[in-house]
Amino acid sequence: MAHVTTTTAAGSKLYDVLIVGGGPAGLSMAVGLARQVYSALVLDSGEYRNARAEHMHTVPGFDHASPASFRDKIRRDLRERYASIEFRSATVTRLRKFEAPVALAGSSSSSSSSSSRPHQRSGVAANATDGSASDGKDTAATSGGKQKQWLFEATDAQGNVYTGRKLALGTGVRDVFPEEDVPGYGECWGRGIFHCMFCHGFEERGAESAGVLAGGIMASPEMLAHVTPMVKRLAHSVTVYTNGDEELAAATREKLRSSKIRFDTRRIARVAMAHPRHQHQEQQQQQQEQIHQQGDGSSSDAAAGSSSSSTAVTLYFADGTSATEGFVANHPAVEQRASDLVAGLGLQMGAAGEVRVRAGSMGYEAEGVDGCFVAGDMATPMRSVAKALEMGTFAAAGMVAAMNAELDARDEL
Ligand SMILES: Cc1cc2nc3c(=O)[nH]c(=O)nc-3n(C[C@H](O)[C@H](O)[C@H](O)COP(=O)(O)OP(=O)(O)OC[C@H]3O[C@@H](n4cnc5c(N)ncnc54)[C@H](O)[C@@H]3O)c2cc1C
Repeated sequence: MAHVTTTTAAGSKLYDVLIVGGGPAGLSMAVGLARQVYSALVLDSGEYRNARAEHMHTVPGFDHASPASFRDKIRRDLRERYASIEFRSATVTRLRKFEAPVALAGSSSSSSSSSSRPHQRSGVAANATDGSASDGKDTAATSGGKQKQWLFEATDAQGNVYTGRKLALGTGVRDVFPEEDVPGYGECWGRGIFHCMFCHGFEERGAESAGVLAGGIMASPEMLAHVTPMVKRLAHSVTVYTNGDEELAAATREKLRSSKIRFDTRRIARVAMAHPRHQHQEQQQQQQEQIHQQGDGSSSDAAAGSSSSSTAVTLYFADGTSATEGFVANHPAVEQRASDLVAGLGLQMGAAGEVRVRAGSMGYEAEGVDGCFVAGDMATPMRSVAKALEMGTFAAAGMVAAMNAELDARDEL
């Protein structure tokens, strides 16, 4: 079936959906919309949360793939098979919802295609009524004898303006490094400090020792007692560092029985990668040469993650001492990457800083703003690629259901 283009009377294209975000959430929303021949524009500023990670895990079929190659594959699939999806590199700086009169079939030259797709028959008059963010219903309403509908508008940093019937947000979150408390943290992030023991750590299994750093999302005895055993699965011994907090160490100790878990309450002055990248590359070359000399081309598990590994982190304490760990687990606090957009739309926030979705909504529609759907890290505390894909798929299902119902109401299905 041919894809249809609708234009606003001002001449710009009216998309069925504007998708802000080109990570797993945004791309998976695009896939769902493409399967129902709805048009969407994916606006992507190219700032992906897992940019630091060289490999991605817990995505079956893409084990150990690079996150970039994963996103590339989805984009390629979309480009090759689904003409209704377009991409644009752009940073969205403003979003608004506004009410516009609907120009009904035959009343304007709104359609630029000869296809029989129903939504081509509606066009939107130019200079649509401006309105602030509103949670008014999206279905066409009659106002003063004229039919109206709610639309969304995105403006990018260059001043380009895009219009869509629905808005889909997959703008993700940003990790907030505790540089003041732990100088050097940002440098080690994703290289030797890992937030998730499913995403990282397996490659370091067999490490002599690993560290768990209290702080950020891992600041309570419950969270520390949850994460520490996962770290222990990958290292012979584990030390929990509480950076001067004796009480936290004592409360966490009560929750864990293992004799192989130690607690260290020394104040941390800074952290650093034990082997900065250039040093590590030299080390790798030496290891490769040794392997060739052995002749079997294999490396052993036992070697993985020792304190000489590329992931090793050194903790320098205020008392002048230091300790080096094969890797360190810590999950920093997170904040909405597009916090201005989220606030500007008036989206409601949950306890973990996630955008709240409407209870009982099958399609992850945002609480309080009809027609705005959200997916991925920005809308859940369970942040992972698989979750972003799942949410994106069902957000698309929600948008499709809403748009189909609107078309049906106007007998335009
Ligand atoms: C170091 C690290 C390693 C990880 N490893 C794994 C792993 O192995 N397995 C796993 O399942 N998960 C992993 N994760 C988690 C994973 O990265 C996220 O759960 C996933 O990326 C969420 O997808 P998303 O689409 O919601 O957000 P993101 O991937 O962060 O994408 C957000 C998108 O929104 C765009 N955007 C934001 N604001 C704007 C704007 N104003 N205008 C235009 N575009 C905008 C960005 O450019 C980007 O395209 C890791 C995370 C980190 C930090």
